[in-house]
Amino acid sequence: MEKILISACLYGNKVRYNGSDLKLEQCDLDRLNEVATLIAFCPEVAGGLPTPRPPAEILPADGDKVLEGTAVIRNTTGIEVTEAFVTGAQQALALCQQHKIKYALLTESSPSCGSSLIYNGNFEGQKIEGQGITTALLRRAGIEVFSQFTLSTLLERLTAPAKNENHE
Ligand code: SF4
Repeated sequence: MEKILISACLYGNKVRYNGSDLKLEQCDLDRLNEVATLIAFCPEVAGGLPTPRPPAEILPADGDKVLEGTAVIRNTTGIEVTEAFVTGAQQALALCQQHKIKYALLTESSPSCGSSLIYNGNFEGQKIEGQGITTALLRRAGIEVFSQFTLSTLLERLTAPAKNENHE
């Protein structure tokens, strides 16, 4: 059975900056559990940040630029937390490599886990196209990253091989 890295907050763990979760509908978790083994992980907690914690944004808003050293991550108190985010992203990748994970389901818009939108870095509540640092690192390693809004595409991907096998 395929293993999937899932954002811990989507799994129901209260690890978000404000101490909340973003748990998927139970029917979606049940469907995922039928076709995959879920490994819940929070890069920011793994990187050493506490919960709750001040929200943070990437400036300029691009996870790739953080990896290249041309963007930083700061929280609302002005403290730079880039190192913790990089550490968490590296631990996420190490976990994926350890378990030969090819797919990740990560929380949209997070500076770590976002896969198509992130906040613009100015704490204005404005989202722009971009990805978080964990997503950027996983994608560089060839891991496909989906969000809670593209869950159906991930489920199709996970069930397609089984369908093909039935036709052989
Ligand atoms: S870093 Fe990812 S897993 Fe952790 S709280 Fe933020 S969105 Fe959820």
